[in-house]
Amino acid sequence: MSYTFSRTKLIEKIKFGLLSPNEIRKMSAARIITADTYDEDGLPIPSGLMDQRLGTIEPGQRCQTCGNLVSNCMGHFGHIDGILVSIPNQR
Ligand SMILES: [Zn+2]
Repeated sequence: MSYTFSRTKLIEKIKFGLLSPNEIRKMSAARIITADTYDEDGLPIPSGLMDQRLGTIEPGQRCQTCGNLVSNCMGHFGHIDGILVSIPNQR
């Protein structure tokens, strides 16, 4: 096996960080509210884990966010709103 380095680049550093909830919502293509994936007809359930705004894996279907087919859509972020829980301060 041989490797071609003509199209490679050296990564000097990677920076990790956390996004705020508002930043995540701005980047999100869909709010996911159910863990269900497909309905009884085999179609993706809106706001489910296979929501078509997140991209598509089905040949011939277009992504509802960018309009591309599976070969040209890289996929889109979705988000799940967390549940705020009040935890009493115990001493
Ligand atoms: Zn897309």
